[in-house]
Amino acid sequence: MQRYELIQLPYELDALAPVISKETLEYHYGKHLQAYVNNLNAAIEGTKFAEMDLEEVVKNSEGGMFNNAGQVLNHNMYFTQFRAPRPENAPVGWTASSIDKQFGSFDVFKEEFVKKGVSLFGSGWVWLSTDPDGKLVITQETNAGNPVQRGLRPLLTFDVWEHAYYIDYRNRRADHLNALWQIIDWDTINNRW
Ligand code: MN
Repeated sequence: MQRYELIQLPYELDALAPVISKETLEYHYGKHLQAYVNNLNAAIEGTKFAEMDLEEVVKNSEGGMFNNAGQVLNHNMYFTQFRAPRPENAPVGWTASSIDKQFGSFDVFKEEFVKKGVSLFGSGWVWLSTDPDGKLVITQETNAGNPVQRGLRPLLTFDVWEHAYYIDYRNRRADHLNALWQIIDWDTINNRW
């Protein structure tokens, strides 16, 4: 039995271009994420983790189980937060007012978020989450890390593994991260509160 399946994308493979090309999605979603799903299914069968939901597996496992479960959870959140590019794209609702209140403006927030992504050494993720008091926090997580391990609720994430941008941007990680703002589906981010 396959416990986990490759998540369905809420858009076509060519819908995010030129911010994320069809070729990048074919590899990142079609091959990298599919491999994490396959590895997780193979590892979890017959273990106590088979009875937990994915977030619980991420919070309670380590080693190969954690790496694959974390990467499935991270990529499921990553790939479902996008929509077709819009140059004037900006947060809405709770997210918009909280960002303004805590960071001063969306521009200040974007700069800080991208800076955290650029300065993360090696592979990992930068996240926007809420803490138990409802305050926004930006964290860097290495490799397969997810803020649920810290008791935070993740809202938004940028993947800074090279496989996320090397086809389209080569070594220009900052250019890739700055372009992602055009394709964020802020309604989806609001629904994660
Ligand atoms: Mn990735």
